[in-house]
Amino acid sequence: MQVYNSMTRRKDEFVPIEEGKVRMYCCGPTVYNYIHVGNARPIIMFDVLRRYFEYRGYDVTFVQNFTDVDDKIINKANEEGITSQEVAETYIREYFTDAQGLGVRPATIHPKATENIPQIIELVQTLIDKGYAYPAENGDVYYRTLKFQDYGKLSHQPIEDLKSGARIEVNDGKEDPLDFALWKAAKPGEPFWESPWGKGRPGWHIECSAMSNRYLGKTIDIHCGGQDLQFPHHENEIAQSEAANSCEFVHYWMHNGFLNIDNKKMSKSLNNFFTVREAAAAYGYDTIRFFMLSSHYRSPLNYSADILEQCKASLARLRNSFRHTEELVKTGADGSIKPEEQAVADTFQDYRTRFDEAMDDDFNTANAVSVFFELVRTVNAATAENKQPTRAFAQVCLDMLNEFNNVLGLLYEVPASANAQAEDTAWIEEAIAARAEAKKAKNWAEADRIRDELKAKGILLKDSKQGTTWEKA
Ligand code: AMP
Ligand code: ZN
Repeated sequence: MQVYNSMTRRKDEFVPIEEGKVRMYCCGPTVYNYIHVGNARPIIMFDVLRRYFEYRGYDVTFVQNFTDVDDKIINKANEEGITSQEVAETYIREYFTDAQGLGVRPATIHPKATENIPQIIELVQTLIDKGYAYPAENGDVYYRTLKFQDYGKLSHQPIEDLKSGARIEVNDGKEDPLDFALWKAAKPGEPFWESPWGKGRPGWHIECSAMSNRYLGKTIDIHCGGQDLQFPHHENEIAQSEAANSCEFVHYWMHNGFLNIDNKKMSKSLNNFFTVREAAAAYGYDTIRFFMLSSHYRSPLNYSADILEQCKASLARLRNSFRHTEELVKTGADGSIKPEEQAVADTFQDYRTRFDEAMDDDFNTANAVSVFFELVRTVNAATAENKQPTRAFAQVCLDMLNEFNNVLGLLYEVPASANAQAEDTAWIEEAIAARAEAKKAKNWAEADRIRDELKAKGILLKDSKQGTTWEKA
């Protein structure tokens, strides 16, 4: 199995640390909002990665964290007059609704940063003891970046470039502009934990080093996330973990490419995003999953209505073929497989080989999906009505279709609750967008009308600098 490793910048043969086992860690969402379609890309892709390893007989331990304490969460909590824990709990729940809708299986463990504070503090203390970190006067603790010889090795940036690019911030307690925070002193009104350095909370990077170590051990097989996490997040994780444990942190670094819209990265900051549930209301959760898997995970992928409509149509063909085959398992002809059916069944091994070859080549789901569709065409032709297929043959076909489907997860029952949530939320978000447009056009009457209409339906809007949020009355 060949895995493209961002560290070596080539496809490396996958050799697990422990035979038959895969230990993988994926950086999860910061829970202060609904996930957007760009965020869904790593979630779907790394779900398939895990399923493929299982299909190949590996026992996989998959850890995906929730960042549940962070500036963005605290800001949202302050805006809404609730605690940051309440914000995080809400969006963790919403995350699971979307993940289930997308056919993503829960990770083996979903640890939260706030449930790992003692482990984080211990790790920070180890780094201080080893001279890799220092408490500043303001109560922050910083990592001494230049002391870590290999800094920059993942993102392939010479330290000189990093030095010249670093922003000099005034008034902070850093020894060097490249140093980053491991622990942040609490500001008034912020959530905090007691620590040897006073009241504070963890920085973002340290949580992944601490949780990866706690749940998977000092050295793990695979660490994954979006391409934008390579620097600084993953670079900092390496600096933390390798300095503390004096051993290699990760064998294979995997990063997905961006989901773009009009050739720009879909992101909250550019405000060019669609939430997963908006897109799900328009095309279906399963269409989003199909769309993601129809390209290779490292290629850029463009989001457009046309492509999603095409994906929806392809998925319908797949569904019809499954339904037809399932039906034949019940209603097909009696008796054992006919020789001409056996001849078709004998070709299935070839599909399996090509499917595995595609997935073994750095998880090329685009090619695997093509092989799946070729199989569908073959099954459709072999089970056409005039051939009077046997039930026995239909069962062989169905088993084969299911084999590929279990890896890619293209056909599944989207939970009714997820669909209902998607429609509910999408409708509100559309109304909010229309109101923003009206405001931009200084059409205050229309903006007020939309607000009142939402209010009449039990939806209250709150405006802030960050945009408009809503809650049920
Ligand atoms: P964030 O909420 O920005 O921390 O992102 C959560 C995860 O989604 C990270 O793994 C990001 O790399 C990934 N991600 C965010 N935006 C995109 C995008 N447009 N395309 C692909 N992955 C993304
Ligand atoms: Zn991380």
